[in-house]
Amino acid sequence: MRMSKALIPTLRDVPAEAEIISHQLLLRGGFIRKTAAGMYTYLPLAKRVLTKIENIIREEMDSAGGQEILMPITQPAELWQESGRWNAYGEEMIRVTDRHGRQFCLGPTHEEMITDLVRNEVNSYRQLPLRLYQIQNKYRDERRPRFGLMRGREFIMKDLYSFDRDQAGLDESYQAMYEAYSRIFTRCGLKFRPVEADSGAIGGGYTHEFMVLAENGEATIVYCDHCDYAANIEIAPCARPVIENNSEPMKPLEKVHTPEMKTIEAVAQGLGVPVTNCIKTLFFQADDEIIAVLVRGDHEVNDIKVQKIHPCDAIEIADSEKVASIVGASVGSLGPVGLKGIKIYGDWAVEKMVNSVCGANENDYHYLGVNPNRDFQVNGYYDLRLMKENEPCPKCGQMIKTARGIEVGQVFKLGTKYSEALKATFLDENGKENILQMGCYGIGVSRTISAAVEQNFDENGIIWPKAIAPYTVVIVPVQIKDEAQMNAAEKLYHELQQKGIDVMLDDRNERVGVKFKDADLIGYPIRITVGKKITEATPLVEYKLRTEAESQDVALTEAVAKVVAFMTE
Ligand code: ATP
Ligand code: MG
Repeated sequence: MRMSKALIPTLRDVPAEAEIISHQLLLRGGFIRKTAAGMYTYLPLAKRVLTKIENIIREEMDSAGGQEILMPITQPAELWQESGRWNAYGEEMIRVTDRHGRQFCLGPTHEEMITDLVRNEVNSYRQLPLRLYQIQNKYRDERRPRFGLMRGREFIMKDLYSFDRDQAGLDESYQAMYEAYSRIFTRCGLKFRPVEADSGAIGGGYTHEFMVLAENGEATIVYCDHCDYAANIEIAPCARPVIENNSEPMKPLEKVHTPEMKTIEAVAQGLGVPVTNCIKTLFFQADDEIIAVLVRGDHEVNDIKVQKIHPCDAIEIADSEKVASIVGASVGSLGPVGLKGIKIYGDWAVEKMVNSVCGANENDYHYLGVNPNRDFQVNGYYDLRLMKENEPCPKCGQMIKTARGIEVGQVFKLGTKYSEALKATFLDENGKENILQMGCYGIGVSRTISAAVEQNFDENGIIWPKAIAPYTVVIVPVQIKDEAQMNAAEKLYHELQQKGIDVMLDDRNERVGVKFKDADLIGYPIRITVGKKITEATPLVEYKLRTEAESQDVALTEAVAKVVAFMTE
């Protein structure tokens, strides 16, 4: 490609709407443009990255026994009613009605569609195992679409579905996909980690998420350096504290005035008590019900754990005005004492607290001398909090570490959840009807672009891993009007193309400094500059890797071989 002809609208300034680096650089580098919230056009550079990632995925899916198909994006409501998800999916589902008044959705995922296909086309054990996949747009009306391609409302997913005759078959399919995912992200040049993950409120499933490690990741993962334990913090179990019976005598309940003390830290400081002896009370909206959850002042509630003991479709922090109207106080003064008509769940660490502090459900007042069981009752004590760094590893007891990650893929043993609901069965050797065992395996293809940038950049721009770079090499002639330079650049350009290398020739009539800036911003792994030394007895060019600060002089005749060697090393 010639830069003079390419649609690469780079921007000098950081766009205001872009909060994280990958979003900024993809906009600035002229990769993507927004059309609506969470919806983007992939410009030529991004499309090339996308195609490269997709091709790696295709190769690995095919070699793991996958067969590619393509299903409609628009899905009939009836199938979702059959599985029971038409209502359960809620507001995230984009629904449309055709001219006859029939209801459809834009597919957020395809379990229903694929199960319908397979129940019609598969009836014998001889057709199993079956692994079908597609790469296409998915639609989820996310509450907060953000960070560019990271969390879109329209995004590109690879989804594979496996169908096996029994649990052992499903285990094999799962393992094959797990290994294929590991190869995919390795080939993409990304640092990643598979972690144990939440299987949703319904439970029963077995699942791993593949996390690209990056500071801006939305997910927190906990891992252990001493054993192989790694999990999404959502599911990491915290040990029940062993507390010897506290001999401190219980004090009477005392209400104190605490104006200006709006946070747990402020209350602890103001009243001269440790944060660990304060009770934090949070109210959640669990479907139609409001519930209260208590954790120790220095702990954070894990809503996934709450959802496990209080099953519901959706859980989120309750609206503060709604809470105030029920409890009679605002955030900062809430507590369990005297709370009526609301289910209260306590974290284990709260159970044995003595003479603790909590909000009095009256603005600007707290209680001192609060003792669980004496001053308030709960509907049960459970593990309800997030694990913290340096806590014991659930597997080996050594200290846990934490890191941030971007979920780029998930593998999931569904079992018979959908095959049972949609009656997808097969006949075994004895002519007996059995229910199919299913697995589903997703990769966020477009999100992987963002994740790759989030992990590979510096102050000048993107540093693409070579396997997914839009172009491997950019050739920069210093003076396009200099015939010797331009001829050499053209020759190099054609030779690299002949070797199958993706190459960009920056033939714009621009200052070399501008071209270098763009090259760094766009992030080509290799830059070859053709300058004055091209007229020396042994013509030389400057060869520079994006990952290195310095360039080196290389004989023009050696340049192609060097690039080829870089690509194969
Ligand atoms: P998240 O927890 O991030 O919302 P999810 O667990 O709901 O994702 P899955 O149903 O597992 O997502 O979808 C498979 C993959 O699709 C995810 O691992 C992720 O990489 C990608 N993905 C999901 N939602 C989005 C989105 N809104 N934008 C871009 N990619 C997404
Ligand atoms: Mg997921």
